Amino acid sequence: KSIVHEYGQGDGVLQILQGASLKLMPGEMVALVAPSGTGKSTLLQIAGLLEKPTAGEVFLNGREASALDDDGRTALRRNDVGFVYQFHHLLPEFTARENIMLPQLIAGLSPREAAERADQMLDYLKIGHRAEHRPAELSGGEQQRVAIGRAVANAPSLLLADEPTGNLDPGTAGYVFEALEALVRQSGLSALIATHNLEIAERMDRRVTLKDGLVVDRDTPDA
Ligand code: ATP
Ligand code: MG
Repeated sequence: KSIVHEYGQGDGVLQILQGASLKLMPGEMVALVAPSGTGKSTLLQIAGLLEKPTAGEVFLNGREASALDDDGRTALRRNDVGFVYQFHHLLPEFTARENIMLPQLIAGLSPREAAERADQMLDYLKIGHRAEHRPAELSGGEQQRVAIGRAVANAPSLLLADEPTGNLDPGTAGYVFEALEALVRQSGLSALIATHNLEIAERMDRRVTLKDGLVVDRDTPDA
């Protein structure tokens, strides 16, 4: 909500967001399409409570993040936000199933529950047959699907994705987006997805861009 964000101090200050404001409705999928360097990743980091804005408020599930202490913010982020990045960031020494189990184990689920849920997720993402494989033994599209499964394993209310298909060929990108969309729709979570892929952006509920540090609607003409 009306976010201002600056990097650096004094003369070196770089003001990226200058009153940017965005609200996601429950279950809504929003595409963030804007030129390189305009602050997409910065906005996602702030929305996901990984970065504190210079000024402004971030509400997550009705709770205002700056009103919480560091532990409170971390807890809110762990419970309510899932992240997917351009590169999968899976742990190489663990299998696909184990990678999806980990956040659930940290959240206190039993290994059995976590494994069951991970297998459900893998089936849903159509990679159930790859459960026992490590990331290095999976294709790029499969790795990204595991990363998506891991991001939503703890049933967050918000999924943030930073160019989740940016590293994939167009066909695979479409397939991976389909898996992501199916999971989002099924679980009713809200998603904010930064992408340069206009075809994928068209499939979401709404498109926004960043202009002069503000979030503006891309769907209205001459935005
Ligand atoms: P891209 O499409 O290339 O990923 P982006 O829209 O995600 O770009 P950001 O990564 O949010 O852009 O960066 C916005 C601006 O802030 C850039 O000028 C970048 O150099 C700068 N920036 C990003 N992170 C930092 C940081 N930690 N410290 C200083 N400047 C930063
Ligand atoms: Mg970026």
